[in-house]
Amino acid sequence: MLVVVVLFATVLLRAAIVTTFVYLMLPAQRTCPRCGAELALIHHSVLRWVLPAVQHRWCLDCGWSGVVRVQSRVMRRAARS
Ligand SMILES: [Zn+2]
Repeated sequence: MLVVVVLFATVLLRAAIVTTFVYLMLPAQRTCPRCGAELALIHHSVLRWVLPAVQHRWCLDCGWSGVVRVQSRVMRRAARS
């Protein structure tokens, strides 16, 4: 039984590490990574409920579409100043 718990813990640890790295690789700014234009927010009720830390955004200029990180209040305040 202990072996199962240890293996399950390593699987959970790997999933947490991969999730963290994928989240950190997402762009955090609200400008397009291709052309630099402002991105439009696409509302997804399910995505907002399941993953509130990410947003689906779309570039009106070049058509880029992707998932970006939601900026925290501290990051938004630092970007303004
Ligand atoms: Zn663009």
